[in-house]
Amino acid sequence: MKPIVAIVGRPNVGKSTLFNRLLGHRRAIVDDLPGVTRDRNYATITRFDKPFILIDTGGFEPVTEDRLLQQMREQSRLAMEEADVIIFMMDARSGLTPADIEVATMLRRVKKPIFYVVNKVDGEKLENESAEFYSLGIERLHTISAEHNRGIIDLMEELLDVFPEADAGIPDDEITRIAVVGRPNVGKSSLVNRLLGFERMVANPTAGTTRDSVDTLFTCNKKNYLLIDTAGIRRKGKTTEKLEKYSVVDSLRSIERADVVLVVLDAEEGVTEQDERIAGYVHEAGRGCVFVVNKWDTLEKDNSTLGVYVDKVRTGFKYLAYAPIVFVSAKTGQRIGKIMTTVDEVMGQYIHRVTTSDLNRVFSEATDTHHAPLAHGRRVKFYFATQVATRPPSFVIFTNQPDSIHFSYERYLVNRFREAFGFDGVPIRLIFRGRE
Ligand code: GDP
Ligand code: GDP
Repeated sequence: MKPIVAIVGRPNVGKSTLFNRLLGHRRAIVDDLPGVTRDRNYATITRFDKPFILIDTGGFEPVTEDRLLQQMREQSRLAMEEADVIIFMMDARSGLTPADIEVATMLRRVKKPIFYVVNKVDGEKLENESAEFYSLGIERLHTISAEHNRGIIDLMEELLDVFPEADAGIPDDEITRIAVVGRPNVGKSSLVNRLLGFERMVANPTAGTTRDSVDTLFTCNKKNYLLIDTAGIRRKGKTTEKLEKYSVVDSLRSIERADVVLVVLDAEEGVTEQDERIAGYVHEAGRGCVFVVNKWDTLEKDNSTLGVYVDKVRTGFKYLAYAPIVFVSAKTGQRIGKIMTTVDEVMGQYIHRVTTSDLNRVFSEATDTHHAPLAHGRRVKFYFATQVATRPPSFVIFTNQPDSIHFSYERYLVNRFREAFGFDGVPIRLIFRGRE
C-alpha cells in the first residue's frame, strides 16, 4: 500500500495550493468555482520514484465562524485515522491563531509523523516573523510558500524519508483500480456519484479548460478501490465537440491505468460505433471489462427486453463475449450494488494464478481431445504451458510451431482455460514460444 499523506489546516492557509503544487498541475478546476462544496481530494503522487497518496482534507463546505472548530476536528480525525503522515499547515500572514493552537493540541495525541508547515512565507521578512509558531512547543518548523514554490523540495525530501519502508507484501493487490469510460452523456458522472455513495459536484461547463486528473480512493465492504480520473469523468459529459477528441484520449489513459473498466452504455441509445471503439481498446489493453447498461429506468420493459439487450451487446462487442453485463440506473440507484460485486468477481479472476500442474493437466487434455490442425503440412506439437502473469492471466505455451497456431485453435484453448479455471469474465493471453 502506498503511504497516505494528509494536509490539515484552517481554511485559506493554502492547503489546496500545496496539493496542486505537489500534483504538479494547475489548481483543480473544482477549486476555482466560488461558493461550491469542495470534495475531499485524493491523488496519487510520485516524487523521487516514491509514490504516495495525498489527501487535501480542506473545504468540506463553506465554513462559518462557529463551524470552524467543528470542521477542524472532523478534518483532524480523518487525517489521524487515514493518514500515515500529517502535514499541519498554518499561515504566516495571519500568524498563529487560536484554531491553530486547538488543532495542534489534538494532533499531539497522534502517534504519526507530523510536519508543522507555515505557508505564505514568500520572503525573508516573513521567514523571521514565523518564529512565533515555535510557541506550539514543536521542534521542527517548515516554512514554505506553496504559491511561489519555496521550501517545497526540502519539505518533500524530509517527508519521503519518514515513509514506512515499502513492505514486501501484496502492494497493489489491495486496491482495485476502476476506470469508468463511455461516450458523453451516458451517465458516467451520475454513476460515479452513486458509487461513491454521495452526491458529488458536477463541474461547471465553462470551467472545462484545465485537465487535471484526480483519483478517488474509496472503500466498499472493507475493500479498497481507486476510481481513476474522477475529475475528468465529471467534466467529460460537458465537453464541446472539439474537446470530445481529448476525452477519448483521456479514456485511453484511464484504461491503461485500470484493472477493471466499466464501459458505460446508454440503454436508450444502444450500441454506437464510438462505444465499440472504446470497448475494443479495453480488450486490446487486456483489462477486465464490465458492461454497464445505464438508464435502464427509461425503457418500457417486457419479458424479452433483457434478452434482446444482451444480444445487442454481444453482437456489438464480439471480442468481449466474456465481459459481464449489468443493467442499472444511476438515477434510481437500481442494481448499483451489483456493479461492485461484479467488479470484485472480475478482479478475482484478473489476479488469479493457476498451479502449473493443474494447468498442464487441463492443457494436455485439451490438446489430446482436439488436435491442432496441421501447419505447413507438419503436425503441431505442444510441450507444456505455464502462467507467466496475472492482470490479465497470461500463459506461455511451448510448441514446435509458434507462428502457425491457427486463430480458431487459440480460441479453443482460451475457452478450455476459461471453463476449467473459472476465468469466465476476463481476457486471457496466450503466448506461443518455439521449442523443437
Ligand atoms: P485552503 O483553503 O487551505 O485550501 O487554501 P487555498 O489553497 O485555497 O489558498 C487560500 C489563498 O491563499 C489563495 O488565495 C491562495 O492563492 C493563497 N496562497 C496559497 N499559498 C500561498 C503562498 O505561498 N503565498 C501567498 N502569498 N499566498 C498563498
Ligand atoms: P456523463 O456525461 O457520461 O458523465 O453523463 P452524466 O452523468 O452527466 O449524465 C448525462 C445525463 O443523463 C444527465 O442529464 C443525467 O441526469 C442523465 N442520467 C444519468 N443516468 C441516468 C439514468 O440512470 N436514468 C436516467 N433517466 N437518466 C440518467
